[in-house]
Amino acid sequence: MKPLQVASGAYFVQGLSELGSGANQNFISNAGFVITDDGVVVVDALGSPELARRLLQEISKLTALPVKYVIVTHYHADHIYGLQVFKEAGATVVAHALAHEYLGSDAAQQRLQSSRRDIAPWVDANTRLVPPDMWVGQSDPRADTILRLGGTEFLLRPVGPSHTPEDLVVHVPSLGVLFAGDLLFRGRLPFVGQADSGGWIRALNRLLALQPKVVVPGHGAASTEPVADLALTRDYLQYLRDRMGEGARNMDPFDEVYRRTDWSRYSAMPLFEAANRMNAYNTYLLMEREAP
Ligand SMILES: [Zn+2]
Repeated sequence: MKPLQVASGAYFVQGLSELGSGANQNFISNAGFVITDDGVVVVDALGSPELARRLLQEISKLTALPVKYVIVTHYHADHIYGLQVFKEAGATVVAHALAHEYLGSDAAQQRLQSSRRDIAPWVDANTRLVPPDMWVGQSDPRADTILRLGGTEFLLRPVGPSHTPEDLVVHVPSLGVLFAGDLLFRGRLPFVGQADSGGWIRALNRLLALQPKVVVPGHGAASTEPVADLALTRDYLQYLRDRMGEGARNMDPFDEVYRRTDWSRYSAMPLFEAANRMNAYNTYLLMEREAP
């Protein structure tokens, strides 16, 4: 784990394009941080407490200041199982109000159970879900929140429901840096899960409107050409919606639609085998629900 600098005082660590496992400690997603004059703001907490400890260590090599805030872009396992370490270190955990639903869900508990098995010993019985100390978007779920620390302004913009209901991106206007969470995937097939892919595509356009110089994605390398680099995620989502939407409208069985779809544009990407079929299936179900 090595922090990569994207602007003055702004860094991220880049996870591997793999599935989470004991061998990689669930280091499959990115986390960012910005060092201000009064402390550090971290974006996402990585996929296990051990990774969070390593990130804290890396931060401490760059500054003696403490981590004041950890902003959660969304409550997916690979971004949150390190939260407890930052919380113990005194940081305030910030997330969007719509994360409430996931935190209270059976799905969250089941995911934690399976992660304790799949990512042992790094995620274990002591790993827990940490709810935010500070909710944003409580009175108006669409409203931006400005967080200030040490003279640096952080714009927290809700962009869900898209990848998840609670998606939050973090823009640092003075640096031109945007931490996009899982709105942006690079170097691997996006994970669609229960996403609202129509909302996701619209949200990508709202990210471009911020005119960032650098975008740090939830997965993969940072981008200095956001317009071009957002295209993979957007085109893939649109392709799923077009192909699965057509099949769902014709009421063709999913297996048949999946089999006849040309996946050649995506099949060489990392995690295609692991994720594409489920992405397509979830999109097929979504398109059935969206169909008039
Ligand atoms: Zn995610």
